[in-house]
Amino acid sequence: PAGGGVAVVWFRKCLRVHDNAALLEAGKTAEHVCPVFVIDPHFGPGSVGVNRYNFLLESLQDLDAQLRKLKSRLLVLRGKPEKVLSDLVKTGKPLMKGKPRMVLWEKDTEPYALMRDSAVTKAAEASGVEVRTFSGHTLYDVDEALRKNKGKAPSQMPGMVTLAKALGEPDQPLPAPSKLPGLTKEALARKDLRVPTLKEMGYKELAEHCGFHGGETAGLARLGAKLKDTSYIRSFVKSQTQSTAFSPPSTTVLSPYLKFGCVSVRRFYHALRKIEAGGKHSETPGSLVGQLYFREMAYLMGASIPNFDRQAGNPSCKPIPWGSSSKQLAAWEKGQTGYPYIDAAMRQLTRAGWLHHLARHAVSCFLTRGDLWQHWEKGRDVFDRLLLDSDWAVNNMNWLALSGVAPWSPPFFRVYHPVPKMDSSLNVRDPDGKYIKEFVPELRKMPSKYIYAPWTAPLEVQKQAGCIIGKDYPHPIVDHTKASTANLAAFKRALDASKNAAPAPAPTTGAGAR
Ligand code: FAD
Repeated sequence: PAGGGVAVVWFRKCLRVHDNAALLEAGKTAEHVCPVFVIDPHFGPGSVGVNRYNFLLESLQDLDAQLRKLKSRLLVLRGKPEKVLSDLVKTGKPLMKGKPRMVLWEKDTEPYALMRDSAVTKAAEASGVEVRTFSGHTLYDVDEALRKNKGKAPSQMPGMVTLAKALGEPDQPLPAPSKLPGLTKEALARKDLRVPTLKEMGYKELAEHCGFHGGETAGLARLGAKLKDTSYIRSFVKSQTQSTAFSPPSTTVLSPYLKFGCVSVRRFYHALRKIEAGGKHSETPGSLVGQLYFREMAYLMGASIPNFDRQAGNPSCKPIPWGSSSKQLAAWEKGQTGYPYIDAAMRQLTRAGWLHHLARHAVSCFLTRGDLWQHWEKGRDVFDRLLLDSDWAVNNMNWLALSGVAPWSPPFFRVYHPVPKMDSSLNVRDPDGKYIKEFVPELRKMPSKYIYAPWTAPLEVQKQAGCIIGKDYPHPIVDHTKASTANLAAFKRALDASKNAAPAPAPTTGAGAR
């Protein structure tokens, strides 16, 4: 190919060979291509739950298998990426003699990635190594979209739809390369640079697989199966999907694959548009295209709103004097609040690494303005650790919304009841509590009548069900009516007080290092 030399393709997200502009470009212009992933110690047992780490390792295994089909492989290096890549662009070690001609990667707009990538860019420039970056994690190039919108992210769907019209259709997904230039001699010799095991990364082996397998192959299979059901796609209205459906879930569960880029969001989008074109279909915001637009909005907000991941210094976050109780936070995280719907959802999060959107609504409202008055940043951190799809921009946008503090929040005084009615906006249509019985086994024998509020069951019924409230399953952690009334009054007082107060100063340390 023209150009010659060695091209390093640095995989971070975009763990796929389809719609991978960096890989395609490297294949066209270099004599050797070295596909590299760097295991970053920033992410590990302290910050990433075992299910997501396992999903990442499965995704890397699959990427390696895809590359091997192209007569290449994934070279897994370890260490701080700034250091590993800086050494690589300076010396070529350990993958080649002399430095590479270029390094290519997909753009990432998260604060941690921006710091990391700017350090690598500087090192490459200092070594005279070309850096090429490509937009691919979002429908549109985030910087271009923001420029077009005068630097401001839309925070409501109509604004996003207008912006999308102004930008035109997103680029079509690129095909996977049909062949790749080979590895360098030095890289070929390094049989050891393989995908590590969970144990090698400091995790215990999984007791039970969460049920969602990482990787491009699993992601495209899931996408393909969903797309086959064109009436499901055309009639999809998010608010009508069931929050308690778990086997199978009522939404696509493509989020973990989009988070890691195992599936290209542009491929998903264009496939949806094609199906929509074939008949009558739902519209934004409820449609699946609407869901991808919400994702896009999160990226645009995250890239343009300062201190997006915190209260302090965030112009889109009202200052609320949240409480701080590690006991309440732990009860919430462990699914021990005494409210079965909330507890089932939190235990599903731990076990499966995924939760329906409305269940996320219920538990985030419960933790913050609804019942426990705990800081949304604390809940966000728990989600960040346990979700397979944990995504810096999307997670923060949604926690800001659900805690009631953002301009795009629903009215703060409209809280969810933790004992949902069957026709409530949480769309719980599970009168027998199958969802609860699955995730809160203590309540398996509780009669349907009491399954959402077991403390109301007479003692005799509790005995027969083998579940005494206060002994086998907790009493409600708070009285919802009292707690929510007090919280809403405190929220309103804080809003009134903040109208006259100066904004809180931005913190100076740790910005965005998530
Ligand atoms: P589908 O309904 O099938 O939607 C398709 C895709 O659209 C999703 O895979 C996702 O990429 C995107 N999408 C859907 N809903 C939203 C939304 N509200 N905002 C942005 N993108 C959306 N989603 C994450 O991907 N990562 C997170 O860390 C995350 N944290 C959340 C925290 C809270 C408090 C709440 C309320 C929601 C959060 N969401 C998050 C959004 C949403 O719940 C999930 O994207 C969705 O449930 C994933 O399931 P799915 O793939 O079946 O969604």
